[in-house]
Amino acid sequence: MPQLGLGVFQVAEDETTAAVLTALACGYRSIDTAALYGNEAAVGAAIKTCGILREDLFVTTKLWNSDQGTDKVRPAVERSLAKLGVDYVDLYLIHWPVPSTDRYVETWQAFERLSAEGLARAIGVSNFTIPHLRRLMAETSTVPSVNQIELHPGFQQQDLREFHAAHDIVTEAWSPLGQGAALAHPVVRDLAQRHGKTPAQIVLRWHIDIGNVAIPKSVTPSRISENIDVFDFELTTEDLRLLEALDTGTRVGPDPEAVGTRPSGFSTRIDQTL
Ligand code: NDP
Repeated sequence: MPQLGLGVFQVAEDETTAAVLTALACGYRSIDTAALYGNEAAVGAAIKTCGILREDLFVTTKLWNSDQGTDKVRPAVERSLAKLGVDYVDLYLIHWPVPSTDRYVETWQAFERLSAEGLARAIGVSNFTIPHLRRLMAETSTVPSVNQIELHPGFQQQDLREFHAAHDIVTEAWSPLGQGAALAHPVVRDLAQRHGKTPAQIVLRWHIDIGNVAIPKSVTPSRISENIDVFDFELTTEDLRLLEALDTGTRVGPDPEAVGTRPSGFSTRIDQTL
């Protein structure tokens, strides 16, 4: 799994194909979408026309909350595969645990069957807490490959990252730039100046150095290019210590315990799409 990918949450369908093609031309090979985002078909159009072999791409999508449950998973993944125009996804994620409906264990068992059939090369979860992960481990036979969680300098999730490391679960950071908020911090700006890099490059390099997979979103070609250009410099131990001290425990997105079958805590535009 590439350590950097392009996220396309809140990217309009008519902007998505161009953003993905720009990213692929810049060297990205991993794209993160979701049934919720309404742009799987536009990602699929980029996959079809990019000229890169399918096996060289890493495509992630996610099962939306209202499709959790034994009988709903298979039709949902088939819809996603059809929109993406692919026979399999590289990673299929349960988007949120939705504890209020208590269906994530049976949903995970359906994911195990998709994996056995080859429709998803790897299966994982998103927005799961340690108790949710422990329950999956106790009641099913597969440990998720990945947990995609909110993670940026202001919200570092140290305990969850340690739990992932102990159980060989990849930590994938969503909103890796804190939706842009992390870039204005004076510490980040100072490090950017010292390294001759941009604030986004400092934050993304930090993700790489602490072992996260990161999926920054941008529709701006220069930023898409900038965000993957982070492999020619290193942060020092002192730099990492300064960035670790920026954790305020403040989320930019909703609390996983509170999210139900309708999105909450994100933009009203997304609320209106459901
Ligand atoms: P990000 O932290 O990636 O921030 C995106 C914002 O930062 C956009 O406004 C973008 O602007 C701006 N930006 C990007 N690059 C730069 C740069 N180099 N300099 C300055 N500004 C920049 O937030 P997201 O919430 O979009 O998260 C990223 C991805 O994570 C999503 O697209 C999605 O794939 C995933 N995600 C998953 C969730 C889940 O529940 N599993 C929830 C939320 C996100 P612009 O586009 O205008 O350039």
